[in-house]
Amino acid sequence: MIVSRCRRCGVNRAEVYLAHSNLSLCPECFTLLTERRVRHTIESHKMISRDDRLGVAVSGGKDSSSLAYILHNLYEKLDMVLIYVDLGVPEYSSHCLKKVETLAKMLGRELVVYSLERELGFTIGDVRGTIYGKKPCSACGTIKRYLFNKIAYDLGLTKIATGHNLDDTVEALFNFYIEGNVKSLVRLRPYLPKTHPKIVPKIKPLIGLTDIECYYYAEYKGLPIRALECQFSKGSRSVRRKELLNTIVEKIPSFKHTFINSHYKRILPLLEQALKSQGQGEETEIYDCPICGMPTSLKGMPCHFCKIVNMIKGKVEVKVS
Ligand SMILES: [Zn+2]
Ligand SMILES: [Zn+2]
Repeated sequence: MIVSRCRRCGVNRAEVYLAHSNLSLCPECFTLLTERRVRHTIESHKMISRDDRLGVAVSGGKDSSSLAYILHNLYEKLDMVLIYVDLGVPEYSSHCLKKVETLAKMLGRELVVYSLERELGFTIGDVRGTIYGKKPCSACGTIKRYLFNKIAYDLGLTKIATGHNLDDTVEALFNFYIEGNVKSLVRLRPYLPKTHPKIVPKIKPLIGLTDIECYYYAEYKGLPIRALECQFSKGSRSVRRKELLNTIVEKIPSFKHTFINSHYKRILPLLEQALKSQGQGEETEIYDCPICGMPTSLKGMPCHFCKIVNMIKGKVEVKVS
């Protein structure tokens, strides 16, 4: 049996093979290089400054747990809290909550838990009886985006870090390309700065790491990771698109890295120019939601979150938000 040695230290046995850069690494070198790559992403986009008060959106999954762990290690002195939104998915949500509680203890960081059922009197399962019923993932995405921002804003945090990785980003970009959704293509960035006093800037420090790299990192560091998948996400469009993109990677290992680099370095600047020349810069008008007072792009109408809440209100009795 041929035992291949780690390409970096040349001593330990290689366990991880990174096809995109043709590197075989031992666990130690792999985790070290992974942390360095995240630091590089953070520094090159100036994502974090010393006086930031950071909220890390955690889900109990490999990505957000790795993110919290890496940020804690890289920026020990940074003011940082973990935020978990409990959507009330049977079994799954309480299982995930236990994992994030263990993670928070492991890091000695505060965990803020927001329970949809406790705060608003419904769970994500109630979405099924509404027009969002066929797309619970999209309603779930809207609810989570809104709540992470709202919670961070109410806590006076200066930034929110999410665990979106390379696979998530390529999947989203790929979808926007297919739809010809130029505005969303331009808006999807590693760092979304403040565009409104009530919008907390978002950062995605893991945008350069693949699913499998996040998985290995969490494994090697012994992080508490959920063992269940959300029952509502099974067979969702985004899961199917990810499978399709992985088929391409089997033939072209660097596909996702090339795709994202081409997009950010070559295509995005041209798209921005084109939008500007048509007089539709990225800044869309922002209005106050008449119900919750949070910012929305919908003029004189409830924001997307309040719309969903209203929709569910028609079905179950909901406490005032
Ligand atoms: Zn090594
Ligand atoms: Zn609202």
